[in-house]
Amino acid sequence: MNNSLETEHVQCLIIGSGPAGYTAAIYAARADLKPVLYTGMEAGGQLTQTTDVDNFPGYPNGVMGPEMMEDFRKQAERFGTDIRFGYVSSVDFSSTPHRVVVDEIKTITADTVIISTGATAKWLGLPSEQKYNGFGVSACAVCDGFFFKGQDIAIVGAGDTAAEEATYLAKLCKKVYMLVRRDEFRASKAMVHRVLNTPNIEVIYNSEATEVLGNGKNVTGIKVLNNQTGAEQELAVEGFFVAIGHQPNTAIFKDWLDMDETGYLKTIPGSTKTNVEGVFACGDVQDHYYRQAVTAAGSGCMAALDAERYLAAKEAV
Ligand code: NDP
Repeated sequence: MNNSLETEHVQCLIIGSGPAGYTAAIYAARADLKPVLYTGMEAGGQLTQTTDVDNFPGYPNGVMGPEMMEDFRKQAERFGTDIRFGYVSSVDFSSTPHRVVVDEIKTITADTVIISTGATAKWLGLPSEQKYNGFGVSACAVCDGFFFKGQDIAIVGAGDTAAEEATYLAKLCKKVYMLVRRDEFRASKAMVHRVLNTPNIEVIYNSEATEVLGNGKNVTGIKVLNNQTGAEQELAVEGFFVAIGHQPNTAIFKDWLDMDETGYLKTIPGSTKTNVEGVFACGDVQDHYYRQAVTAAGSGCMAALDAERYLAAKEAV
């Protein structure tokens, strides 16, 4: 833990700037908690990596992900949130107020901490996957499936998420190729059963996507390697979905907060309370199941209300 001389005290510190963090900020600022929000290195979070967002209520004509996060930021600022670009490098939740170090040099003590650091989608790591990210390549079927209505797509992954997303996409798309890298799924039996009984899903076992093909603007296909025979084939698809898991951004909290085996923060059901008093978690960092901007925003609102009530109860004692 850094013991820098530069220390500042705040009532409410929010870590992370996706829909959860900004919504927590709007509510906390309106409750006069004078929140300070650190954006992290990727201000705006995962939505700044997407293009069209058509499923966030209140935008009848859709909105671009980065533009929507800019709207969130402006709304949080309008009520006086102190938004700062910075990265929380370590925390110490052993006593109150909680101690948080920013950019390895500045120490902040906080009566309440709201964690909204999100989760990061795992990618295959192909340069072509990066190149077409947002232009046919996606890590979220519910967000982007609609854009591929009636088209052929491929999805990689064999867990519950991939199975669920493949069946979701099968309802919208003409054909879904599902690339499974081993000769079996990781997903639960029930999910696999659903996949195998969906006529327009073709499962290709022992397969790896080696390149995303495109015309410079959009995806036009993928190259697939059979890792048993070494044979390669090209599939003509317009969309390529990567569903190989997410990594919650929780490394700095591992000594303090309860997490599941993947690293998602555990909260008391029906609340955003963690195992440490005065520390709350909202958004994807504590939700591997819904992972939507609107559900993250909803839990951000809950976190601010939980923080406000925690402070009020402390004051009343
Ligand atoms: P998982 O970690 O469970 O599965 C990841 C899948 O991606 C695995 O099949 C893995 O293959 C595959 N994979 C990983 N890296 C690569 C790669 N480089 N190339 C190809 N394939 C790769 O993640 P999920 O997101 O599916 O699920 C996370 C958790 O959420 C799980 O506990 C799951 O049960 C749960 N969940 C539950 C749901 C439900 O109950 N309805 C819905 C969604 C998620 P391999 O198997 O070979 O390792």
